[in-house]
Amino acid sequence: KLTNIDAPSLGSPITMTDEGKLIVPNDPVIPFIEGDGIGPDITRAMKIVAENAVYKAYGSNKKLHFWEIYAGEKCNQMFGNWLIDDTLEAIKYFKVAIKGPLMTPVGGGIRSINVRLRQALELYACIRPVRYFDGVPSPLKEPWKVNMVVFRENMEDVYAGIEWPAGSVECAKIRNVLTNEFGISLREDVGLGLKPISVFGSKRIMRKALQYAIERGRSSVTIVHKGNIMKYTEGLFRACCYEVAKEEFFDQTITEEDLSSKRTGFSSSKKVIVKDRIADAMFQQILLRPEEYDVVVTPNLNGDYLSDAIAATVGGLGIAPGANVGDEAAVFEATHGTAPKYAGMDKVNPTSLILSSVMMLEHIGWKEAAALIVRGIERTIQSKTVTYDLARLMKGASEVSCSKFAETVCENM
Ligand code: NAD
Repeated sequence: KLTNIDAPSLGSPITMTDEGKLIVPNDPVIPFIEGDGIGPDITRAMKIVAENAVYKAYGSNKKLHFWEIYAGEKCNQMFGNWLIDDTLEAIKYFKVAIKGPLMTPVGGGIRSINVRLRQALELYACIRPVRYFDGVPSPLKEPWKVNMVVFRENMEDVYAGIEWPAGSVECAKIRNVLTNEFGISLREDVGLGLKPISVFGSKRIMRKALQYAIERGRSSVTIVHKGNIMKYTEGLFRACCYEVAKEEFFDQTITEEDLSSKRTGFSSSKKVIVKDRIADAMFQQILLRPEEYDVVVTPNLNGDYLSDAIAATVGGLGIAPGANVGDEAAVFEATHGTAPKYAGMDKVNPTSLILSSVMMLEHIGWKEAAALIVRGIERTIQSKTVTYDLARLMKGASEVSCSKFAETVCENM
């Protein structure tokens, strides 16, 4: 049901069983949003690498059919709208999409297109894997110990956008209710915001994190929360996560507590260890003992801070990939922004988006192609052939353009 753009002329759609399992044809249509600023440069690089990897892995038996859909500045220029319904329809229909960064227009009351995409498609899990690539400059002494995947809840928490400015009628009304019905008095000049965290939202993100950990043989899932202070929101999140592990994944998981007390008497091998950490302690742990953490599951705000902090320990945002995943669709994206001053210069590092395509290939089960790309990136960075951002931090590096970096990754696959 497209109104502004033509349907793809080649390829077949990925479909889904009633249980939510993907059925992937050998010629899937992959809708992509080029993105603003450096978006076109890194998207071009990503497509070349992904197509090459698929060809190297499967010859002509499998092929990705990239198909352009629109959001952001380009969409506004073409259709007078920053996000068109066709884009949402296309992602829902084709189940998987990949996107470059989109600029958030400042002022004029236009909401972030990224946030609108996430909410409209109910992409409730923001997944950010962070691992070290040998040779990348890092502030840690032993950065190779970092290999974590953050599952950040994407729809709730203080990001739900339920807030009112100080001095507003709404604030006055709520203050009245609090005073009259709960005996709580607040200063007259407070601004107020709500932090909704639900049983449903907490359980479904934990379910996703555990499924991921089990499918990929990861060792643990750590719940990161501030339940000691915010008992009925973050504390609820923690309790719901443990409940899911116990009620839905009993045979595949063991809690850290059970493991240390040996109460259950069975071995932990092949079981995912479920543990929890208070958020502030976790920020120390990722620096001091990163090797003890694997999959991390956390509410929205903690996840926002934590995923950037973990990414920084292995060389920053230029290389960390991301995905926003729901039950109906998944959108893979670079974690950085549009870096407008480098737009169109073929200069920036495309690794973040290329690694997002690795996540996408893993998501559709094309693991061989995904592994080839990872190998290509490892070898390219090890040989110190890198873009300006890493070149300026590495001794003896040769600086290459965005497109040359992608070409080198293809040669090294
Ligand atoms: P930014 O990520 O664009 O830039 C931060 C710094 O990182 C800059 O110095 C930039 O040059 C550098 N950088 C970013 N990506 C790089 C890459 N691939 N290679 C090398 N260097 C890179 O963040 P910002 O300046 O705060 O935001 C610019 C715009 O991007 C804003 O409009 C913002 O709303 C948007 N944004 C979008 C997303 C998204 O689409 N997911 C995420 C963050 C910011």
